[in-house]
Amino acid sequence: MSKHIAILGSTGSIGTQTLEVVEANPELFVVDVLTANNNVDLLIAQAKKFKPDVVVIAREDKYEYLSEALKDEDVKVYAGIDAISQVVGMSSIDVVLTAMVGYSGLLPTIKAIEAKKNIALANKETLVVAGEIIQKLALENGVSIYPVDSEHSAIFQCLIGEFENPVEKIYLTASGGPFRGKDRKFLEDVTSKQALKHPNWDMGAKITIDSASMMNKGFEAIEAKWLFDLKPEQVDVIVHPQSIVHSLVQFEDSSMKAQMGLPDMKLPIQFALTYPKRLKTSFERFNFLDYPNLTFEPADSKNFRNLALAYEAMDKGGNMPCIINAANEIMVEAFLKDQVGFLQMSDIIETCMQKASFIARPVYEDYVSSDAEVRELAASLI
Ligand code: MN
Repeated sequence: MSKHIAILGSTGSIGTQTLEVVEANPELFVVDVLTANNNVDLLIAQAKKFKPDVVVIAREDKYEYLSEALKDEDVKVYAGIDAISQVVGMSSIDVVLTAMVGYSGLLPTIKAIEAKKNIALANKETLVVAGEIIQKLALENGVSIYPVDSEHSAIFQCLIGEFENPVEKIYLTASGGPFRGKDRKFLEDVTSKQALKHPNWDMGAKITIDSASMMNKGFEAIEAKWLFDLKPEQVDVIVHPQSIVHSLVQFEDSSMKAQMGLPDMKLPIQFALTYPKRLKTSFERFNFLDYPNLTFEPADSKNFRNLALAYEAMDKGGNMPCIINAANEIMVEAFLKDQVGFLQMSDIIETCMQKASFIARPVYEDYVSSDAEVRELAASLI
């Protein structure tokens, strides 16, 4: 019995690696749906190779080009954000892998859960923005959310067989990114080109900047809170530059479990699709002699203020994580275009957190309006 998958964001880093996993296991997986934001040529190549039933391009101006290129294929072609939200409900789909970038993942994920599709979640912003709604909907619809994020996959793997045993605390490991150990004086002048060089992980631009600024780790703390039903004080971050220990769980008897391995996103992607089964792979194996020293150090939330701001947002709750996410998306975009400096990103995000309208108990429409409000506010502060 093969599993039918919809891949939202198939042309990004996670999407392409998911297709590598599919390609390596053709008897296990069938791709029903591929969606992309903008990269139409890669989407065409993927559609010809993987023969999905449906492809969707979010950018409507690329529809003509896409449908012309695929006119001899047996595939339905759609365009627009609404189409993505609709196709996730297709009856043949077993699991929806959400790998879009940022806030755009929220609505399609909600629609997939409402259609009772299990989720392999790579789009962490969905849980950052609206974790409360997502978890409630998943519960109501009997849907499982399998983490694709490597740290959360690690925690998930450590928790297997521990269902009766409460978690005391989790430690999310962080590589520290390309600027680990640097002070504010250094960070003041760093460029987007420097920030895009991650030491251990090869990822998309948005998450690579988030990793350099530590916002990624802050978001992962919020993501973990919702995925594993934890209090903010149960989620800790520890810097581990080698990225071999992918995260740890501490139980009430003081025992700790860690999940380890070489950094390769294909492992958490595959496990999210095959849980509880582990597939045999040819992935490179970890060799202790290559890593005689695994080191750990505290996270630096003084110089990397985004981490502290994300914890502040998690503590405050309500729409504050939505506010920080929207401000961050605008800042990362501006930083990539060299419109703001590295440190300025945190300054403007903090201003947005102070100025944007706070809503203690937001519903979906509040997130939509809050996201729009903060995007405008953040852009005006550049
Ligand atoms: Mn991660």
